[in-house]
Amino acid sequence: MKIDLHAHTCYSDGALTPEELVMRAHNQQVDVLALTDHDTVDAIAEAQQYQAQQKRAMTIVPGVELSTSWHGFDIHIVGLNIDWQDPLFTERLQQQQNAREERARLIGDKLEKAGLGNVYDVAARLAGKGQITRAHFARALLESNQVSSLETAFRKYLGKGKRAHVSPRWISVAEAVQWINDAGGSAVLAHPGRYDMTAKWLRRLIVEFKQAGGHALEVIYPGMSPALKKQMANYAIEYELLASTGSDFHAPGRWSELGRHLALPETVKPVWSDWLSELAA
Ligand code: AMP
Ligand code: MN
Ligand code: MN
Ligand code: MN
Repeated sequence: MKIDLHAHTCYSDGALTPEELVMRAHNQQVDVLALTDHDTVDAIAEAQQYQAQQKRAMTIVPGVELSTSWHGFDIHIVGLNIDWQDPLFTERLQQQQNAREERARLIGDKLEKAGLGNVYDVAARLAGKGQITRAHFARALLESNQVSSLETAFRKYLGKGKRAHVSPRWISVAEAVQWINDAGGSAVLAHPGRYDMTAKWLRRLIVEFKQAGGHALEVIYPGMSPALKKQMANYAIEYELLASTGSDFHAPGRWSELGRHLALPETVKPVWSDWLSELAA
């Protein structure tokens, strides 16, 4: 079985519509796909409707990737198998979406002051009906030839401590875990090796995540060295967390592909062991 539990659509900073993402997942022979947009579940209904019309079977897992702040780090908590229509959850997501919009306005102000023009309007147009993210600002700057790459946009303007950085007002890690648990889902600490923190800090994060009621560690994601994979698997075992895996797919032709090289090591217990048989039935 090919299982990919982390992917984005145009409802956040992904390039594909839910229909296109599902189609691509079929072409990549994916059997289980979780939709995990940043702070929104808006892609799920469309993806499910489209899947229902297809001949090829594929399980769609409703998910989300919640933005949180922890000691100045942007930490991402993925929620899997959530009751995405839960009214309280929907209301809570709205709070994050408001924080996103407010931050986007402030980023726009800073870019304007830096002499880059009205980047907010372009970024908002690129985001369309989806959540506006820094990735949209990066794309807007790239399209107007004000930076040479998306990476440069983050390095010069949008990254932590840079000219147009605005400290986000995200919820805490514990709140994100609570929201996911209240919506009946499994909380996953996303891409733990990507936070640019020491092993000591990462262990602290994992301990707090676990104490808050977190379920799983994303043990496999693209771009990991064999040593890092081993380290993350060891953390899952040591802290008695389940293990998740996902491509964090955003767009075709970038650094990751749906469903590719995502097998979990045999030493860990998969996060879906609790719910997949029930979903597939
Ligand atoms: P936000 O959630 O609005 O802060 O936007 C963060 C998103 O921007 C991430 O989910 C990534 O998709 C993207 N991103 C973050 N850092 C970089 C980078 N250095 N280069 C390109 N994309 C990035
Ligand atoms: Mn993203
Ligand atoms: Mn993330
Ligand atoms: Mn992601």
